Amino acid sequence: MMWIAPGKTIGILGGGQLGRMMALSAREMGYRIAVLDPGEDSPCGMVSDKQVTASYDDRSGAEILASECDVLTYEFENVTAETATFLEETMYLPQGSRLLQVSQDRLKEKEMAADFGIPVVPYKAVYTFSGLQEAVQELGLPAVLKTTRGGYDGKGQLILRDSGELYSAWEELGSKGPLVLEKMLAFDKEVSVIVTRSVHGEMTTFPTAENEHRHGILHRTIVPARISSEIEEKAQSLAERLAESLEMVGTLAVEMFVDGSDVYMNEIAPRPHNSGHFTINACDTSQFEQHIRAVCGWPLGSTKLLSPVVMVNLLGQHVEPYLRSHSMLPPAHIHLYGKKEAKHNRKMGHVTFLSEDPEALLEEIDASPVWNE
Ligand code: ADP
Ligand code: MG
Repeated sequence: MMWIAPGKTIGILGGGQLGRMMALSAREMGYRIAVLDPGEDSPCGMVSDKQVTASYDDRSGAEILASECDVLTYEFENVTAETATFLEETMYLPQGSRLLQVSQDRLKEKEMAADFGIPVVPYKAVYTFSGLQEAVQELGLPAVLKTTRGGYDGKGQLILRDSGELYSAWEELGSKGPLVLEKMLAFDKEVSVIVTRSVHGEMTTFPTAENEHRHGILHRTIVPARISSEIEEKAQSLAERLAESLEMVGTLAVEMFVDGSDVYMNEIAPRPHNSGHFTINACDTSQFEQHIRAVCGWPLGSTKLLSPVVMVNLLGQHVEPYLRSHSMLPPAHIHLYGKKEAKHNRKMGHVTFLSEDPEALLEEIDASPVWNE
């Protein structure tokens, strides 16, 4: 079943903002949407034809979703392996469950990178406190200690700067399953590339995005990235190599560190990604439309950048200040995800500025009090 015609129903596992933006694109193309999410009135549920409210590891919820849909996709990688395998066996899940399983686990991701000859920063798996001490001996400080599973937006990780901090770090994270210690890289830049591969094996990449994080959370994305053409080439080909080696279907976001002339893979996400939101307003085809094209068997669209762009996230603390003072800023495309509670650091929306003069734009954004916490 390679072609899912408009009018059919796409099932989305996960009802967050990524599912919402996928659903909005799919609806433009004439599809119906059903979503599985544990919370009622989820960002995706609000714009879908049907929401099944059940936990991701509740098989009966997945069964109800499956019975409603012609094709299934996911908007986040923490669907349990059992659920994904069950769905892959009983339903049409063109993305498969393998990539899901790899990207749920930082160690598996790094082992996969090694298999494909893709550089990652030096790391060690950590299972015990003495293992942590040995890893620190080997890698030196500063280093970053991360949970292998379940982390996002900088959650589940600690920066270790001094050997006196090891014990408290172990107390905080040691009970959260296997850990990984990574050398802390004083990188020049973080970039990402979003690659899409269709059920027919056609592949596209979006322009390399330059990402700035604050406290482990993406703050803004600048495209074109301010990198040399040599780095651009390396980042693009790293993402293509991953997608081809994995023979994946769907969308893969590849986060990378740039250090001098070296490009390292940081982590991957098997879905559209926050750093690809700029594509909605600035590219010929958005990452969400491209994802739907890939899993439904359409030819892929052009990923051409139509204008230089800066995408800035609106976290809980930014929404009210932005809405109050947006007229002082250059006009932007505003995207809000419909979340009710504007909690601190919660991703509530984003704004996208298009400009032929991105440096001037960045100065205006920097001068605005909206994002100065
Ligand atoms: P998450 O799943 O939370 O996005 P990441 O591994 O991407 O986890 O870490 C979040 C951010 O923390 C990165 O985007 C980067 O800014 C910083 N970071 C993570 N690992 C390292 C490292 N080894 N060296 C330097 N900075 C890092
Ligand atoms: Mg990350």
